[in-house]
Amino acid sequence: MASLIIRGGTVVNHDHSRRADVLIDGETIVAVGSAIDAPSGATVVDAGGCYVMPGGIDPHTHLELAFMGSVSSDDFEWGTKAALAGGTTMIVDFCIPDPGQSMLAAYQDWRRKSEKAASDYGFHMAVTSWSEQVFDEMAIVVKTYGINTFKHFMAYKGALMVNDDELYNSFARCAQLGAMPLVHAENGDVVARMQEAVLGRGVTGPEGHAYSRPPEVEGEATNRAIMIADMTGENSSWNHAARRVMSPPFRAKAHQDSLWAGLQSGSLQVVATDHCAFTTEQKRLGIDDFRKIPNGTGGLEDRMPLLWTAAVNTGRLTKEEFVAVTSSNIARILNIYPKKGRLAAGSDADIVVLDPAASKTISANSQLSRIDYNVFEGYACIGAPVVTLSRGKLAWAMGELRAENGDGHYVERPPFSPVHVANSTWKQQSAPRAVRRADVTP
Ligand SMILES: [Zn+2]
Repeated sequence: MASLIIRGGTVVNHDHSRRADVLIDGETIVAVGSAIDAPSGATVVDAGGCYVMPGGIDPHTHLELAFMGSVSSDDFEWGTKAALAGGTTMIVDFCIPDPGQSMLAAYQDWRRKSEKAASDYGFHMAVTSWSEQVFDEMAIVVKTYGINTFKHFMAYKGALMVNDDELYNSFARCAQLGAMPLVHAENGDVVARMQEAVLGRGVTGPEGHAYSRPPEVEGEATNRAIMIADMTGENSSWNHAARRVMSPPFRAKAHQDSLWAGLQSGSLQVVATDHCAFTTEQKRLGIDDFRKIPNGTGGLEDRMPLLWTAAVNTGRLTKEEFVAVTSSNIARILNIYPKKGRLAAGSDADIVVLDPAASKTISANSQLSRIDYNVFEGYACIGAPVVTLSRGKLAWAMGELRAENGDGHYVERPPFSPVHVANSTWKQQSAPRAVRRADVTP
């Protein structure tokens, strides 16, 4: 197997940093330490002045998703290549069965679409309806396909939305299987009525999207989902997911302060993109009616340099906390830590070398993503990934993309994560018990 050594950098994990070399054999890190002797013929990556960190994991993408009359433009090839160029080495995409479609068939569709992935990937499975078949298939999804997360849409009425009763059934099933439920938390009934009301006032443009989805609609659904999860025995593990729901519209700047506070305090644990890239042309489907504009935009390529610039350079987060929110925390939540999310002997060699002095101005002209614009256009990042390794292979180096179609592997994730085990122990301890009474004779 080919050897590779990263020399002279500072290795940053979520809990500790130190100057160290990193030796890789094949797809795996075999040693982290000072002045390691490399085998002759090993490729040498000079990381002097750089931070060497676990590759980013983006747990929320929609690649090649058929949605709202269109198909998102970044497929598994270009989405993952864009990810690697931005220091992200694994994505988790949402496998979404059409209502009534078998989860098993949807899984096969997603496996086919993802054969060309250049980085590692996994799936969340969406529960878009409820039946005995769904109940049965959820077990197969967990035990055979290695998926330990199920997504529920509380919005998109008439398409993907599930009601409270269905949520209850599915959350309870998740608790049995050791899986974690995720939600898109917006009150879909209210959104549908608000959309009609906004249109009724003559607002047909994109501004109607935000008007019809105010923060209250999101807050109520989040609370409702947490309550239902709590009733079914999915408590704290569920909160991890709830807090990183990011799909609703961009909010006013004041909301950013509370998001930063959440990240700093640890109540928000993960920064994901919800990358679902539709081109300007595709967005035009909703030229006369904002309800028909395909929902979604990019971000996979920009997440790491943007967050470094806005969080670490400003002192909002330490570099160790940066690693936590871009990689280690989600690896633990998804039960794939420390294979992913950690830079240590035995872990997969998914690594980003970030040069804190490198500058990168975000621009649609230079991005790998297939869309024709970037919502962060012109944002000047200081600190950018200069080398990305995916399973030990140079995937991105000094501005050159080397990753190839099919380099990515499907990552299976076992159920019963530590948080799930702790939570079900607590639920057993605090479960309702019948009071024993002496026989009562009438
Ligand atoms: Zn999404």
